[in-house]
Amino acid sequence: MTTALITDDRFLEHENPAWHPESPARLRAIMHALETRGMLTHPDIVRRAPRLASDDDLLAIHTPEHLAKIIAAARAATSDHPVPLDPDTFVGQQSEEIARLAAGAVLVGVDAVLREEAANAFALVRPPGHHAEPDAAMGFCLYNNIAVAARYAQRVYGIEKVLICDFDVHHGNGTQAAFYADPTVAYFSTHQSPFYPGTGAFDEIGVGEARYTTCNAPVPRNATLELYDAIYREVFVPFCDRFQPDLILLSAGYDTHWRDPMANILLDTPALALLTLRVYQMAETYCAGRLVGVLEGGYDMEALADGVCASLNILLGDRHITDSLGSPPWPGFRWNADVVVDELRQAQDLFGYRRKTRPAGPIPGMPDIDEDHDEPHPHDEDED
Ligand SMILES: [Zn+2]
Repeated sequence: MTTALITDDRFLEHENPAWHPESPARLRAIMHALETRGMLTHPDIVRRAPRLASDDDLLAIHTPEHLAKIIAAARAATSDHPVPLDPDTFVGQQSEEIARLAAGAVLVGVDAVLREEAANAFALVRPPGHHAEPDAAMGFCLYNNIAVAARYAQRVYGIEKVLICDFDVHHGNGTQAAFYADPTVAYFSTHQSPFYPGTGAFDEIGVGEARYTTCNAPVPRNATLELYDAIYREVFVPFCDRFQPDLILLSAGYDTHWRDPMANILLDTPALALLTLRVYQMAETYCAGRLVGVLEGGYDMEALADGVCASLNILLGDRHITDSLGSPPWPGFRWNADVVVDELRQAQDLFGYRRKTRPAGPIPGMPDIDEDHDEPHPHDEDED
C-alpha cells in the first residue's frame, strides 16, 4: 500500500498578517511531526512535488473575473501588507502563485492515484480551499483546491462520478456551490452549526438532477465521536452506496479536534483517524481504494500534526496511531444520535437503506492507540 505525499516548502510563502491563525507554522508543525515519527522516510510513502494549476484547471471551477481579482490583489500587495479580500482572507505578493500550487498539488495526487503510481494520496497545502466559491475568495481560501481536482479527474481521466467528503469543522460552502446542480459530483459534509460560514443546513440537498447528491450533517457544539460515528455509519455509508463513486476526495480539516482554538467539537486524534478510516473503507468498497486527501483547516499545532499523521497512517493501511494529546478533558453533550440520524435520512430519502443500530459498547474499528501524551515525546522508534 503506497501513499503519495505531495507538499513543498513553498507553501510557507503564502502571506497572511502576523495575527492570522492560518499561518506557515501549521505546515511546519506537520512536517516536524512527520519527520520525528519517521514518516518522511516511510518505505510506502512516495514523495511528489506539486505543480502549478493552469488557467484551464482553475477556470473549470472559477470565473475569469475571480482569477483576475486574485492576480490583481497579489500585484497590489507589498511585502508588509497583504491585500484583504474579506476580513480574514488575504492575498500577499506570492499568494496567487502559491494558491495555484496548492490546487496543483491535489492534481498531482489525482495523477498519482489514477495512473496507479500510488494507492492513494494526501496533499499538504496552504492556503486551504473549501470556502472559495466560483467567484469569491473567503474563509482563508483563494482557489477551491478540491473542487478543481474533482473537475480535473473528470476532464483528464474520464472519471464519471466523484464524491467529496469534508470533515473540516466548517461547512465547505465553496465546494457545495460548485457542484450544487451537478449530479456527477457528490458532496458530504459534517460541520459545527450554527457556525461560520452559515451554510450547510440539512435540507440543502442539491437541485434538479443533483437532488440528493449534496448531504449536509450539521452537528451542534460539544458533539463527540458518538454522534459523528452514527452519522458516518448511518448516513455517509448509504449516501456513498447510492452514489457509487469512481473516485473519493477528502477535505481533511483538523479543527474538529477538542484542542482547536477556533471551534467547539470534541473529537480527539483517534476519532479523526476513525473518520479517515470510514472514508478509506468507502474508497475500498466502491472505487478500488482511489482516495485523495487535501489539508483544509486545523489551528492547534499539535492537534493538527497529530491528526495529519493519524490520517496518513490510515491511508498507509496502518491502524496504529500516536495520540499525543489524549481525550477531551471535559465530557461532551450526549445528543440523541438516533434523532439526528433519522432527520438526515429523511432529508436524504435514505429510508430504503436498513439501519444497523450499533449495540452499546465501544465503537468498532477504533485504531490501536499509542498514548504518549504524558511523555515529552522523544522518538517513536519503537513503532512499526
Ligand atoms: Zn475549518
